[in-house]
Amino acid sequence: MQFDPLKNILLTAHKNTTIRLELVVGSMIQPILLLGDPQLYQASTSLAPEESAMLPQLETDLRDTLLDYRRLHQAGRAIAAPQIGIQKRVLYMHTDEPMLIVNPSLTFPDSEKMLVWDDCMCFPGLLVHVERFKNCLLTFQDRHLRPQKIAFSGSLSELIQHEFDHLDGILATMRALDGQSFRITQAN
Ligand SMILES: [Zn+2]
Repeated sequence: MQFDPLKNILLTAHKNTTIRLELVVGSMIQPILLLGDPQLYQASTSLAPEESAMLPQLETDLRDTLLDYRRLHQAGRAIAAPQIGIQKRVLYMHTDEPMLIVNPSLTFPDSEKMLVWDDCMCFPGLLVHVERFKNCLLTFQDRHLRPQKIAFSGSLSELIQHEFDHLDGILATMRALDGQSFRITQAN
């Protein structure tokens, strides 16, 4: 067989392109840290503008991990980066439409509270009775680092407060109302 240098170059180029594309868009379902992992109790740091190049891959990983959890447990509306071991202030929420939330801050327009039985992907099968604000105002940057502001109420309000807590190293178990605020929903 005759050596064809042009064909060889094209083949090599094609192979390299394929590998590079996989590196750009490749995703992996990440392991979710579980209750008791010391990393979950650490506060995360803000995402600096010069770190924004990591956002597409992080969003893909958060999305795939959330969707995989949802497939396995029929639950899960949002995930925080520290839950997969990335100590950055980034959340991914997928309810009506997917939303990446970068460097959020949370304020409460009034003092109205509600009681909820909270769950978490870090402790499947356990519910915790907690108190949350009924209304909240979320200020954040989107995936293009543009400033955004959204008001939440009811179940989305408690969801955002739960996810925001992850960025400060706070789990719902730490907000339990009292010693009887825990419920097992599935036997292991
Ligand atoms: Zn959680």
